[in-house]
Amino acid sequence: MQSHIPSEVGAAPQPFNPRSKQDIYRVAAETMDLIQRHDALPDPVAYAVWFAFAAGSNAALVEAVSRKLSKSQCLSPFEINEIYAEFLEDNSAQAKSQKLGLEFEDSLSAVSDLILESVKNNDSFRATLEAVGQRIPNAVSSNEIDELVARLVTENQKMSQTMQELDKGLAESQAQIQRLNAELDEMQKLSLRDPLTEVSNRRAFDACLVRVIERAVSTRQPFCLAMADIDHFKRVNDTLGHQAGDIVLKGFSSVLRRNTKGQDMVARCGGEEFAIILPDTNIIAAHNLMVRIAKHVRESQFVSNDDHVRIGRVTASFGVCEFKPGTTAEDLFDRADQHLYSAKHSGRDCVRSDLTP
Ligand code: GH3
Ligand code: MG
Ligand code: MG
Repeated sequence: MQSHIPSEVGAAPQPFNPRSKQDIYRVAAETMDLIQRHDALPDPVAYAVWFAFAAGSNAALVEAVSRKLSKSQCLSPFEINEIYAEFLEDNSAQAKSQKLGLEFEDSLSAVSDLILESVKNNDSFRATLEAVGQRIPNAVSSNEIDELVARLVTENQKMSQTMQELDKGLAESQAQIQRLNAELDEMQKLSLRDPLTEVSNRRAFDACLVRVIERAVSTRQPFCLAMADIDHFKRVNDTLGHQAGDIVLKGFSSVLRRNTKGQDMVARCGGEEFAIILPDTNIIAAHNLMVRIAKHVRESQFVSNDDHVRIGRVTASFGVCEFKPGTTAEDLFDRADQHLYSAKHSGRDCVRSDLTP
């Protein structure tokens, strides 16, 4: 390979007085090329020597480097240091040129950082940015560099705007999704709750019963279903009015809730009829629990919440049965209802179950 001889060699040495950015870009590009071609270490001292050589402003340096290059393809780090010490140290003009060259190098690396950042942030800009990135090392004219940098700036502005819009859009949709989810949750809860008594409604009860049956089949744990119906409730409405009847319904469901535990489910199945699902509970425990609840109901004085007017007392009848493998939800419901019917026929205010005749 032929050694690089700058165009200035042979002509009268001209001091390197960069008049424009273009001069520096041209010399900087040549310097990079020289460093590469002569396998020099790209350290600041080598850069300064090759920069001065490319600029041709220091005739003695150009001559010394050319002489060495005529003997060997490469300059050793020792030779580079020697040339630097002999021709460049304390040379303010050279130092200035070198500084400008290094600044240019810095700006190149800043631009390439920009490219990397952009590519990292958004793949859709990859093609443009890579194309610009590839052209930068070969670009020697000031106009070309300016144009490339301008393109990068534009691409980056576009990208950052897009990212900002995306961020904003994302934040808005997230807030909207959260709002919708909360509304949906609320609607779902409402659709499963009885508005008057705030216990579960028939729909929630049906779904729960199916789940509890499935679970009992797989775990082989017992569970019971109880039905509860307020006695002579029609009389409450008829004598005290519908509003008083509502207060009794609320008070009655609250007694049921207070006397059942976390995994038990109290549901209003219609009118003044309620169902209680008792998971992991056998018939003895369930029967006894309903006897206790019947007592609580009997002893409760139902009072209106608003004006604290006493409504009076009521009693209720209960029918309880235990799940047997192979029974459907409907069968279970019918059996509990039959026991309830039996309780009504036994004089009301009592519990009938699988345990009673
Ligand atoms: P039994 O002891 O045999 O159960 O007699 P009952 O009077 O309790 O039963 P019946 O089925 O004859 O009457 C139920 C009444 O419940 C009739 C209906 O108007 C009333 N009712 C149903 N839903 C509501 C409600 O939401 N609010 C009020 N206040 N009354 C209701
Ligand atoms: Mg009734
Ligand atoms: Mg009834």
